[in-house]
Amino acid sequence: MLIICCPICGIAGDEEEFHYGGEGHIRRPASHNASVSDEAQRDYLYIRENPRGLLRERWLHQRGCGKWFHAVRDTVNQEILLVYPITDPPADLEKLEAERAKRETA
Ligand SMILES: [Zn+2]
Repeated sequence: MLIICCPICGIAGDEEEFHYGGEGHIRRPASHNASVSDEAQRDYLYIRENPRGLLRERWLHQRGCGKWFHAVRDTVNQEILLVYPITDPPADLEKLEAERAKRETA
């Protein structure tokens, strides 16, 4: 079971209080531009990362404040390393990995 702390309201709860929203920071192709290629549209709709390790994700605090936020989760051990507001830029995964390695050797 995942324990997640919402960065918006600060309340921690188990994963059943939250809703998984898939990979984070997926940008929609500019829809006002009729020249969006089929490949760009396909990539937006279907192509996702499936890493063994850190992944940026979107989560909704469904039974709490009702706000979306981002989290970085390790897909190997389910550890959530970071939660941050939905408006923040993508988290630096290399930096998080380096900080974790430093903690584990200390
Ligand atoms: Zn919340």
